Amino acid sequence: MKITGAVSIKKPLTGLTLNELSILVNQLGMPSFTAGQISDWLYKKKILSIDEMTNLSLHYREKLKENFTIGRINYSHIQKSVDGTFKYLFTVAGNKSIETVFIPEKKRATVCISTQVGCKMNCLFCMTGKQKFSAHLSASEILNQILSLPENEQLTNYVFMGMGEPLDNESGLFKALEILTAGYGLALSPKRITVSTVGILPELKRLLDETRCHVAISLNSPYHEERLSLMPVEKVYPAKEIADLVKRYDFSHQRRISFEYILFGGMNDDRRHARDLALFLSGIPCRVNLIKYHSIPGVNLPETILENMIPFRDYLSSHGIISTIRTSRGEDISAACGMLSGF
Ligand code: SF4
Repeated sequence: MKITGAVSIKKPLTGLTLNELSILVNQLGMPSFTAGQISDWLYKKKILSIDEMTNLSLHYREKLKENFTIGRINYSHIQKSVDGTFKYLFTVAGNKSIETVFIPEKKRATVCISTQVGCKMNCLFCMTGKQKFSAHLSASEILNQILSLPENEQLTNYVFMGMGEPLDNESGLFKALEILTAGYGLALSPKRITVSTVGILPELKRLLDETRCHVAISLNSPYHEERLSLMPVEKVYPAKEIADLVKRYDFSHQRRISFEYILFGGMNDDRRHARDLALFLSGIPCRVNLIKYHSIPGVNLPETILENMIPFRDYLSSHGIISTIRTSRGEDISAACGMLSGF
């Protein structure tokens, strides 16, 4: 990170790792221990202005303010669902918008975080996929969705399942995960974080090697051709290779792997699919989340019915795979799975 006197747009401090803060304070001629003080203000005390860093001298605070801001941005719009789900619109660089969803439940409070504006993956069933990809979110913009969420203090679970493919934004995601879990950062247990992915293999391997976060793989079919028709990424990273990779890791203890399976009526919700899904997943200690497809404009895919979902779930459960029908939340405000668009 290079800091020059000619910087006209101030940069956010939120999103900097402790290592980056150390380089920064060094460049500004500040004592090295101030890096830890700054991370403490940013991620533990969650302050909103550099002036609040009262254990830094006035001189150092003024120096920081010349080129930096805290980087916290409030949401610009809010929608509330009849089921209590909230959808927040945040403005990010380039005057673009992203959506973040807060899902309160009896014993949990979950934030669904976005990592990109639009998405390159173009999954047939997804509104975000219909938008052209336009930007990766920075670690600062990813963390702001958590830190500036009005319900921040209630949060128990953090899921990277919003707009974008998290593993396609390697730099933003891994920095955000470090800051969320590091002792100098938010110090969250990785067990409270789930990263959902279509399965970009090199970055999935990195996620499995370098973090202890839970992983959710978007599968949607046990068959190559059918998954390919729903998810173009199958051509490059086939589900078979994803299964081969995850079989090399231990998911029998604290860390969980789950497979997301969106059900389409009369297409992938019958007994044959349930049987072959169970066969496909054999040897992986995993869970399956069954998700009802929500119709989106311009896409001719059929919705399933609960009468098909229940026997599908029961078949998997009776074959040793813990399966749950995920309750749709926020459908009336287009906050449910696959419906986020940033508009
Ligand atoms: S489902 Fe996820 S990966 Fe696929 S297009 Fe939508 S946001 Fe991208």
